[in-house]
Amino acid sequence: PTNSFRPDYIMCDFIVNTERKGIFMMHETNEKKPEKPCRACMDFQTWAKRQMEAFSEKEQKKSEQTSNANNIQQSCPLDKDELGSKTWAFLHTMVAYYPDHPNEKQKADVNSFFDTFSKFYPCNICAEDLQKQFKHSPPQTESQEKLSQWLCRIHNEVNKKLGKPEFDCKLVNQRWRDGWLDGSCD
Ligand SMILES: Cc1cc2nc3c(=O)[nH]c(=O)nc-3n(C[C@H](O)[C@H](O)[C@H](O)COP(=O)(O)OP(=O)(O)OC[C@H]3O[C@@H](n4cnc5c(N)ncnc54)[C@H](O)[C@@H]3O)c2cc1C
Repeated sequence: PTNSFRPDYIMCDFIVNTERKGIFMMHETNEKKPEKPCRACMDFQTWAKRQMEAFSEKEQKKSEQTSNANNIQQSCPLDKDELGSKTWAFLHTMVAYYPDHPNEKQKADVNSFFDTFSKFYPCNICAEDLQKQFKHSPPQTESQEKLSQWLCRIHNEVNKKLGKPEFDCKLVNQRWRDGWLDGSCD
């Protein structure tokens, strides 16, 4: 009787252990890497539930990947126009904070800045045009007012060349330093 009982017991134990092990392994693998639910390994309800879980995990991963791709796209090298508008913002802002009464060293430094800038601006056609413009119309370094008006005119020359509307240079300090009179920047 013991012998006839034993194989059944072993058989039963084997099945229980295998099932437990199977479930345990599935839980373990589910946590690390979602596996395709095994239709033949479980009852239909469990299988359907796992299918749903696997599907929603896949969808979640897909949307995470899309949002990562968007973030990566926002961190791409600048093209000519992006570089242009960011550079104009920097130049106009720098000039907006130039002293009203600069000393000789400050005048020489800002002159040297624009000279070097026009040699290294990383858009070749733009840099060449700029060097020509600077020869014809060198930076007016006597005051913040003069320098910002000069830069505004330089920018307007580029605007004209590109068929863009000219900017009203009377408004340059509102645009780049003080904010609009209507308070919309406050
Ligand atoms: C030094 C330099 C030279 C360039 N040369 C060329 C070129 O040769 N060819 C080319 O294709 N592109 C050139 N670009 C790029 C070009 O000028 C624009 O930056 C680009 O086309 C994007 O234009 P945008 O419509 O974003 O406005 P942007 O011209 O970049 O202007 C940005 C903002 O500045 C303000 N603004 C506009 N005009 C003036 C002004 N006169 N004074 C003060 N503020 C103003 C406006 O609020 C505007 O929204 C140059 C850029 C720089 C910085």
